[in-house]
Formats: sequence, structure tokens, C-alpha cells
Amino acid sequence: MSQHQGIGMTSQRTRDRLVSQLQELGIQDQRVLDVMRKVPRHLFVAEALASRAYENTALPIGLGQTISQPYIVARMTELLIEGGVPENVLEVGTGSGYQSSILASLIPRVFSVERIKPLQEKAKKVLADVGFRNISFKHSDGGWGWKACGPYQGILAAAAPAEIPQNLLEQLAIGAKLVIPIGEEGKQMLQRVTRTESAYEVEVLEPVSFVPFLKGRV
Ligand code: SAH
Repeated sequence: MSQHQGIGMTSQRTRDRLVSQLQELGIQDQRVLDVMRKVPRHLFVAEALASRAYENTALPIGLGQTISQPYIVARMTELLIEGGVPENVLEVGTGSGYQSSILASLIPRVFSVERIKPLQEKAKKVLADVGFRNISFKHSDGGWGWKACGPYQGILAAAAPAEIPQNLLEQLAIGAKLVIPIGEEGKQMLQRVTRTESAYEVEVLEPVSFVPFLKGRV
């Protein structure tokens, strides 16, 4: 049977169960919960893993990378849109495209950068098939940001650098937020940086586990 059919482990009931878990874990933003309920996460993983797509876990997507855990996708999105939905957002680390789809369901313009070409190609196709038209893609190192399309009202990174990349700070609009995991494996903390007129305010939020933020593109 095709993974595109909403059967068994990919049914609406299975998705609703995931959303209940997210609420138990503290996700409160109803807008985020609503899109997490709608987006078909099973289309962003290999068919052999589709039955596990609504578990609250990261799953392999090939080339040593993972689709982010639903909880962390919801949490980062909630942190990004708190206080107002941005008009545009830069995402670093397209990966499977799952986080992009959640962002694009809420935010008018999404710019997504991925350093691994085959992952980018695959994500682009799935997102087009699902019907998203408001995402632009770039095969690049997100450490450079994507200056031509900025400044951004929000930036979200799905890979962890040792320090906050200067280019991302510079591409934030005044009042905008950057949500990013920072630190080495085993010691990462989720951070939110808000750019004000005169400074960058940093909030250190919770321990997280992301793949490393690597240099260059492949
Ligand atoms: N949010 C994605 C998570 C993918 S894992 C999802 O839901 O599927 C993180 C991704 O970040 C990987 O695909 C990895 O290749 C990418 N990545 C790591 N460092 C990067 C960088 N400097 N620039 C762009 N992408 C990067």
C-alpha cells in the first residue's frame, strides 16, 4: 500500500496522539499544535520508517542526518513566533523538509538553506508534492546566511554550531528572533537571540541534541 494513504500508523488518530504528547511536554501555542496535527510527517521519511513517523523521535533520513524530533520542531517554532508571526524566515538545515513545512504553514515566506545537495533535492520535491509554494531553497553553508533575501524577521537553525554565527546575527531584522542550538555534542543548549535597536539579547533555554553545524557544502 502506498505511504500516501492515511492508513493505520499514519492515520489522523495517530497524529492526534502525537499532538497530545506535545501538549503534555509543554507545547502551548495552538497555532503550532494545529499545523503539527495537519502536516503529514510520514511523507518526509523513507517508506520503511513511515509507521514510526508519528512517534516523538528523530529518525534517520540518510547521509548521516536525521529528521528533527516533533517536540523540538514544535518548541522551536513556538519560540520563533511568540509575540508575532514573522513575515519571512531563514531556516538553516532543510534536511527532510519537515521543519520547513511547519514553518511554511505559518509564515508567508520561508528561505531554507541546506549544505547536502541530495537531501535538498529530495526535500524540494516532497514539499512541492505536498503543495508548498512559499519556500525558496539554496544549496549553501547556512553559516553564510542568505544575505540577498534578508534581513529576516526570524531565523531558525536545525544544526548546532559551537558559537552563534555572526552572519546570522547580522541578517536579523530589528526585533527579530534567532532560535538555534549552541554547543558541542552532549552539551548543547537551545538559545533564542532577539535583536534590539542596540543589542542582541540571549536567552539560554533547554538542553537539546542536534547534528553538528558543518562548514561548506557537499
Ligand atoms: N529540520 C530538519 C532537520 C535536519 S538535520 C528536518 O526536520 O528534517 C539538520 C540538517 O542541517 C542536516 O540536513 C545537515 O546537513 C544540515 N546542516 C548542517 N550544517 C549546515 C550548514 N552549515 N548549512 C546548511 N545546512 C547544514
